[in-house]
Formats: sequence, C-alpha cells, structure tokens
Amino acid sequence: QKFVYSFTEGNKDLKDLLGGKGANLAEMTNLGLPVPPGFTLTTEACKVFLETGSEPASLHEEVSAHLDALEREMGKKLGQADDPLLVSVRSGAKFSMPGMMDTVLNIGLSDASVLGLAAQSGNERFAWDSYRRLVQMFGKTVLGVEGELFEEALDEAKAAKGTTDDLDLDASDLQVLVDTFKAIVLRETGRAFPQDPRDQMDLAIHAVFHSWNGDRARLYRRQERIPNDLGTAVNVCSMVFGNLGEDSGTGVAFTRDPSTGAVGVYGDYLSNAQGEDVVAGIRNTLQLSELEKLDKKSYDELMAIMHKLELHYRDLCDIEFTIERGKLWMLQTRIGKRTAAAAFRIAVQLVDQGLIDLDEALHRVTGGQLAQLMFPRFAPDASSKRVAWGLAASPGAAVGKVVFDSYTAVKWSRSGEKVILVRRETNPDDLDGMIAAEGILTSRGGKTSHAAVVARGMGKTCVCGAEELEVDTKRRRFTTADGQVVEEGDVVSIDGATGKVYLGEVPVLPSPVVEYFEGTLHAGADVQGGLVQAVHRLMSHADVRRRLAVRANADNAEDGGRARRYGAQGIGLCRTEHMFLGEERRKEVEHLILADNDKDRESALGTLLPLQKGDFLELFQAMDGLPVTVRLLDPPLHEFLPDITELSVRVALAEARKDPNENDLRLLQAVHKLHEQNPMLGLRGVRLGLVIPGLFGMQVRAIAEAAAERKLAGGDPRPEVMIPLVGTVQELEIVRDECERVLAEVASSTGVQLDIKLGTMIELPRAAVTAGQIAEAAEFFSFGTNDLTQTVWGFSRDDVEASFFTAYLEKGIFGVSPFETIDRDGVGALVKHAVEAGRATRPDLKLGVCGEHGGDPDSVHFFHEVGLDYVSCSPFRIPVARLEAGRAAL
Ligand code: PEP
Ligand code: MG
Repeated sequence: QKFVYSFTEGNKDLKDLLGGKGANLAEMTNLGLPVPPGFTLTTEACKVFLETGSEPASLHEEVSAHLDALEREMGKKLGQADDPLLVSVRSGAKFSMPGMMDTVLNIGLSDASVLGLAAQSGNERFAWDSYRRLVQMFGKTVLGVEGELFEEALDEAKAAKGTTDDLDLDASDLQVLVDTFKAIVLRETGRAFPQDPRDQMDLAIHAVFHSWNGDRARLYRRQERIPNDLGTAVNVCSMVFGNLGEDSGTGVAFTRDPSTGAVGVYGDYLSNAQGEDVVAGIRNTLQLSELEKLDKKSYDELMAIMHKLELHYRDLCDIEFTIERGKLWMLQTRIGKRTAAAAFRIAVQLVDQGLIDLDEALHRVTGGQLAQLMFPRFAPDASSKRVAWGLAASPGAAVGKVVFDSYTAVKWSRSGEKVILVRRETNPDDLDGMIAAEGILTSRGGKTSHAAVVARGMGKTCVCGAEELEVDTKRRRFTTADGQVVEEGDVVSIDGATGKVYLGEVPVLPSPVVEYFEGTLHAGADVQGGLVQAVHRLMSHADVRRRLAVRANADNAEDGGRARRYGAQGIGLCRTEHMFLGEERRKEVEHLILADNDKDRESALGTLLPLQKGDFLELFQAMDGLPVTVRLLDPPLHEFLPDITELSVRVALAEARKDPNENDLRLLQAVHKLHEQNPMLGLRGVRLGLVIPGLFGMQVRAIAEAAAERKLAGGDPRPEVMIPLVGTVQELEIVRDECERVLAEVASSTGVQLDIKLGTMIELPRAAVTAGQIAEAAEFFSFGTNDLTQTVWGFSRDDVEASFFTAYLEKGIFGVSPFETIDRDGVGALVKHAVEAGRATRPDLKLGVCGEHGGDPDSVHFFHEVGLDYVSCSPFRIPVARLEAGRAAL
C-alpha cells in the first residue's frame, strides 16, 4: 500500500485519500501554478496510526524516499547547517476544518541551521524569529506545552524593550527568546527541544495525526456532521517565507465575495508576515486590492491565477498565498465556504457564464441555506443606536446579551438566554461559545479571520473587525468610540449583512425571499443583487426535477392559504384538535365526556357538528382543487378538561363553603377516571373513536357535509379522512365501517356524489410491521414519524430533547436528534418495510409522511429514496422541502 504521494502525483478528486488540502495542492501543481514542492501522507496512514498507535511499517522508508526527492529538487537538505531546507507539516482532512487541527511551520531549524538560514537570507532577525516560532509552535502543538507560557515570555521580552510590537524585537532579543523558549520546553516536558530535523518532522507528523482526535476537532465534526473515522492527511511542504521583509507577505483571497457572491477582488494581505498571522486576526490586514500598489507584478499574477482557478474548479475558490521577496507562491486552494445568499447567487451566475448547468446549480444550494434566507432582517428605526460598524462577515440579524467568554456563552444559553459572544478575536478554543451564541462580534480580524470563517460555516451571524470597540474581556465589558461602556448582560443587536452593531434590541423585517414566496414583491424588482431571481430560478428547476409532491401541515384556512402561496400541493395533515377548543366548544366536549347516556352524548355532538362543518367549509374553500387530508381527533381527552389541580382546589373550596358544584364534582371524577400515567400511550387516536360512540362519525359527517355544500356551490373540495394511531387492521376496519356508513348517508341526504378516500397514519411500530394487513383497509398511509420515532426509540417526544439529548449528542450516540432527522437505520427501516408491504397489498396505495421530518432536508432525501408520493410539513418549510425534493431527484 502506498502511503505517500508527491504533489505531482495527486489530483483534486483524491480528497478521501489526500485530504482537501493535499488533493488541491496536487491539482494546482499539475495546473502549472507556483506551488512549493512537497508531498502528502495519506488519511490511510493516519487511520493505521490512530488504530495501532504507531506508523504503518513502510511509512518511514516512504517518507525518506520522498524527502530525498524533495531535497534533490530544492538542492538542499532538511535542516542542513549552512543552508537548511525547511518544511511545514500541515493537517488536511477531506472536509475543511478551519483551525481545528495542527500545523507546524519552519521544521528543520536548529541551533546549527539557524545560523545557516541567517547567512543565506542575509537577515539575522528573520532567522531567529523563524526559530522562535518553531520552538513555540512545536512546543505547544507537538509537545503539549501550555501556549500561554510562550505568550507570557514573549510579552515580557517586549515589555523589557518598552514595546508592544513584535517587530521591535531585534535579532539578539529573539536569540535570547529562543533560549527562554527552549528552557520552557525542557522544564515542562523533561526533554530538550529536538535538534534532529527528521525527528522534528516525524514528531510533527504524529502530532497532526493525533490532532484528528483532539477535543476541538471532535466537537467541530459533530457540529458539521463530519464522520469520525475519516482521518486526516498530512502535507509536508517546502517553506516559503512571507516574513523576509517588506517585499514579502502573505494573504488569503476569494475569487468572488463569499458573503454576497459579487464578482471582484476580495481578500486580506499582510506584508512581512507568516501564514497564521492573517487568519488569526492578530494584526490588522490590508485589503487585497492594495497589494496592486505594493507589488504589481505579484498582484497581476495572482489575479490571473485566481481567474484560472475559478474556471478550472467552476466555482468560488478561496486561496492562501505567500510572496517571498517578490515571488508569488500558492499555498492552498479549495472550494470556498460562502453565505446562503452567495451560494444562490453564485450558482446562477455560473449557469449564466455557461460554466455549469441548472442541475449542477441546484446541487450546489441546500434547503438549509434557503431556510437561512427566510429569516427576518433588521429594520433599524430612529431610536436604534448604532455604536460600531464592523465587517459584514456572516449574515443574519442577531439580538442577545453580551458575553465575553465561551464558558459564559454556553452557561447562559443553556438557561435559555440568547447571547452574543464578544471577543477581540476568536480562536478554536472559542468554538463551544460560538455554537451556543446567536451571533459573534469581534473587534479585530478581517473577513477571513477565524471568527468569520467558522461563523459562515455554521450559518451563524457574525460581525468582525469592529475596530472602534475596545474589548476588555478581563473586566467583561467593551467601550464604544464615544466612551459608552457595555457590560456583560447588556443587550446588543448585530447585523451580519451590513456589519452594523446597535445597542439594545432593533426591530426586524421579513426577508425578501419570504416576500417573494408570499407574492408581495413586485415582479422584476432587483432585490438584493439578484438574490430573489436566483432563488426563483432554482426553485423552478427543483419543481421541474422533483418526483415527490409537497403538502402542508395546516389546520385552518389561513395556514392553508399561506402553504398554497409557498407552493404546497395540498394539505397532508389537518389536525382537528383545535376544532374542539374555545369556550363554546370546550363546554360541549365536557358534556360529551361526562355524558352517561345516548341522549346527552348526541346533544353534545349535535352542537359540535355545525361548528366543525363551518371550519371545514373555510378550509376546503381555501384549498379548492387540492387534496386535504383531515385527521380525526388524536390527543388524549384530558387535554380538553380543566387542569386536575385547579379543579381539585375549586371543588375543595366549594366544599369548605358548603356550596358544592354538582358539575365540578362530576368533572373532577371524570378527570380522575381519565387520568393516565402515560397519556401518549393511552386513550387517544383511533382508540377514542372506538370507545366514544359517535365522535368520529360526527367529524366525518362534518367533513362530508362541508364537501357536499362546497360542491353544490361549484367548488372542488378534495377531502381525505385519516385515522390516527392505528396498531392493527381490526381497529381500522371498525372505524372504517362507521365512516363509510356516514359518507353514504350524507351522499344520499345531499344528493351529492362524494369520493372521499379513507386512510390511516402509520405511527406505531406494529402498524409498520403489519402494514401489509393494514393496507387492506386503507387507501393511503401517512407516516407519523413523530410518534413513530417516539415509540420505536421509546423516547418521550415531549421530554427527551430538553433532558438528556445533550449528553447523547456529546457522547456522539447520534449526531442529530432522531426527532429532527429521520433515523434511517431504525425508524427508516420500518418506513421502508411498510412502504413495500403496503404496496404489495394495494399497488395504488398513496404514501406520504406528515411528521416533522417531512420538512427536514436529509429526511426528504430518504423519503424520496423509499418511494413516497409526498412529504407534508409546516407551511414555512414548504420551500425547503420543494428544493430538497428537487435535489433528491438529481
Ligand atoms: C406524528 O406523530 O408524526 C404526527 C404527524 O402526528 P402528531 O404530531 O400530531 O402526533
Ligand atoms: Mg402522531
């Protein structure tokens, strides 16, 4: 097995093996771009190392061979005393994990070779600074020395010089600092800083392998749903230096604006600096366009390369580059992360440029991004007080209480507070807090700083580089340019689309994308630089491609109307419980429950009938011409009765007054009788229909009479009747007989021919397992994946997410709640079985899903794969479901 690939051997399609960075370095090398030579150790080598605790047997030899070749190419040897070859050892997994894993630069420097580097570069300060950085980075990431110790020593050295700027330390200061750093390493680890260059390299490689399993990396993977078993590749790359003087520097750039998608020059540049300086946001950077003035030749070459890369990858690329004494080097490229708005715009721009087709464009946007675009945005009014204007790093409108550290962010958000994490700059240790916060605000760093990159990846609002703010994390406050002090706990609003920061809570406006779906935007308006047009084109294409129909979960005419505007093709779930609520109806429900004879029961049902019929008339009118699946009453009856404690108190008080209320007493008895330890597994769903005579019949009559009336008025009502919580076909058969009798009665009394399908929900494991039998009595199935998940896992859907799911997620038992994304292996397997068994019995069985999963992107793909006819979800999720159903069909 081959574990090491030269950059000349790989290509961009080998990301599994070479990681994203390695694969793209190889691709750039083969495109003839100026990439410093090097080689990549594969993810396979990492996996062996992590499984067995040591390198694969052949690895050392293979690395030696590639190192030899590299040394021959460069004409010098690693760590050679008079003219050392230096290398970087950089992590690079299949999916980019910015800053989550380790990197060590300047490998090959030692007490001897630092002198050679000084002589060769003619720059003693540079050589000692590079050595200082190596001992520091190596000490921290490879040897596990507390990073603060180096930072403090560096601060002391600067303080002794009376400065706060690294650049004021001269060669002899840095030489002393190297000794201090080496002493720290010896003291903390009990061993000297290794002087042998190959030892340095091997140890750094192992450290990078190990960093795959570091806390930060694990947390990031869980968040981003990246599998744990991929491993990281390691890139060994000959060093080029951006810190050799003013004719050198380093930068990051995007081929177009990652926050809006606009074409142009976007990036940051820092002269006389080395790689991490830019991304870490340590010094404030120049805009890339200013490089043109500093070094036109390199700038022009860079622009040409960026153009070439974008055409080659047919997508937005981000790059890292270094200029060493006027010579440009490419250190990295990848498909760039981008905001949701940019994703839609860029996809459509590339179609218009003829680089990709509409299918590819649809493939490149996600339902999650669309959902982000549907969030409201800020509409500052006269009273909104802007206190800073930073960089619009990741869009969104976030309001919350200011916190200054990750720990507090997590603690406060767990207790239900919305928080904004404010830092001078973020680093990977802040990840927990960034996840917990509504938004992130920093006073330093550009659009490519850690905060910006990570926030965009998470879809979290971020304003960075708000330089007017003086952030004092120790005293937990920041000060604005005009001297106002904002303390921990004060509320701020940050606008990730404009970079503006406000004190207090700013009012919000609906998103233009929502206005587009609502039809309240006037046609042709150029909204947000073509965003709405881009959404329109990709939604239309999704509609052309998708096989799944999309329906809505909507209980009334208003929601139904919205769903229709958003593109719903019917109602997949009308829950009828609200039709039993409200002052007047509730009383009748009480009568119904208390009735101990047919007459009282019929009277209560008789009062409810016209009220419910009225509801259905409105609903069928709103949904004229589209199917409306009406589910008969589902929840346990106690939900309609007064609260047991309240009622007990009322009865006790009345008794104390010697004025007992007869009705309350009976009600209390009924409440006690209906009380259940596990109401979700008790008298609900079809069971209600079976034990309360006439209840389901009344509902079906209301549906049928409303439909008949609509038909007589010239409408096209298309109701379907759905029975919930069925576990066995016998239950369904009994209820079905009653429904059919009522339908026949209404047809004959109104003289209207009604064609109303009768079907059932599949939301119990037994129903799924015996779906073949149940299909005998059902014309359609709708999977109730909320209850099905609850009963398959034995998880109370009302409790677990707030109680122990966090622990489950932390332990990686699942990456996402099974109530959010369908559990394919368990719940999904039952769905699949029920689909097959149901269709075997009844080939034209109509199949849908109406649990929350119907609007979840991943789950929509699953429902497409198992061959459902439709998904049904809340009106607001309809566009997401349409888009994902289209993507699933590509
Ligand atoms: C379900 O259980 O998935 C469902 C749609 O019904 P409800 O959420 O009303 O129980
Ligand atoms: Mg249910």
